[in-house]
Amino acid sequence: MSERDAAVRVIRGLRERDHVAYLAGGCVRDMLLGHEPKDFDVATDARPEQIEAYFRKTASVGAAFGVVLVRDFGATIEVATFRSDGVYSDARRPDSIEFSSPEMDAQRRDFTINALFLDPESEEVIDYVDGRRDIEARVLRAVGDPDKRLQEDHLRAMRAVRFAARYGLTIEANTAEAIRRHALELRGVSIERIGDEMRRMLLHPSRTAAIGLIDELGLDDAVFGDVCSFDPGIMGRLGVRISYGLALAALALGRGLGIDEDSGGVCRVYRQRLDLSNADRDTLASILEIARSMHDNWEQLGVAGKRRLAGREHAGDALSLFEAWCAERERDDADAIVHEINAWAESEEGVCPPALIDGGGLIELGMNPGPRFREILDAVYDAQLEGRVHDRLGAIELAKKLNEKPA
Ligand code: ATP
Ligand code: MG
Repeated sequence: MSERDAAVRVIRGLRERDHVAYLAGGCVRDMLLGHEPKDFDVATDARPEQIEAYFRKTASVGAAFGVVLVRDFGATIEVATFRSDGVYSDARRPDSIEFSSPEMDAQRRDFTINALFLDPESEEVIDYVDGRRDIEARVLRAVGDPDKRLQEDHLRAMRAVRFAARYGLTIEANTAEAIRRHALELRGVSIERIGDEMRRMLLHPSRTAAIGLIDELGLDDAVFGDVCSFDPGIMGRLGVRISYGLALAALALGRGLGIDEDSGGVCRVYRQRLDLSNADRDTLASILEIARSMHDNWEQLGVAGKRRLAGREHAGDALSLFEAWCAERERDDADAIVHEINAWAESEEGVCPPALIDGGGLIELGMNPGPRFREILDAVYDAQLEGRVHDRLGAIELAKKLNEKPA
């Protein structure tokens, strides 16, 4: 059963017991915008303990917020009791909630496009906030007083950017003004939440528009800890589906960071501000470093150096970044490098074939592991990559010759 069908079954189950129940929030928005909803949430006047009694497989995730997961129909459906939120003392979660009416539930939601309900049987949209009008006009508008709504939860500024970019909406003027006014308060939001929003923005094809909006609304200071202006060119030239590491690297370069020697700086800052994992940070660092080598000193590397670089992990992403970076101006340089790498990649042995001889092989030849050992292995592998040795015999011969020669 599809998730939508499962949600409809839940709604029917609730109605049979005389409750009000609707599809709510993001899925209604997505359906009206012609997008495929990610998940189908249900809102109802049934209380959590009632929901738990009506269905067989339930889990209470956010009991304090009146949210129960129903798993009876082969999908996990989030069922939330209509509620209004109490005071927000930590600008993140209300201190308390109160179960209430659908109308109050719409009022507590962030943007009008997110505050709609849908009766899946009659297809009627229940709209207390003129969300339909805003969807039709492609406008993102806070529910109620934008200043107050942002003050309650500063993360809503990031959510506004994400939704506006994702659906190509204009942020309504008063909402945009409020976001600008409260921009710096976003600093008070936990880096986990900011990092999560940023990740979702950067992984989506609308990433360039999102970062542009962050700049335009003056959120960059609070999000990145600096106010470098963003040149969308590089990011805009990348593909639609790209890795998080590549998107981060394009973000850094677009903001003029990580171009000179010290890409470590921006990697450290982004790790902290955007709550990157160590692995994400290392990926970002590799992509920037490899792309910079391609850009600055490709020709000096020689064949072996080029192939070693092109064979590194994340070199594919680095090459994409480099191509986007070169744009029209250095187009020919980029094409030449792409061509060179592709020729290796398409050859039988690939970019970096396994070494013809390894440490074990040298020991068999009677050599003793030591500092010279590594140098010999590297030199023999260079010769292999440059096509000066072709087989194991040639590799052995060269290793012996190098071993006889004083370093
Ligand atoms: P998506 O999951 O595609 O990002 P969504 O609209 O489903 O979008 P969720 O974060 O899953 O977003 O939240 C579900 C609904 O809960 C939203 O549509 C909105 O009505 C409400 N909501 C979520 N976060 C907030 C918030 N910070 N302030 C007010 N309402 C919120
Ligand atoms: Mg959702």
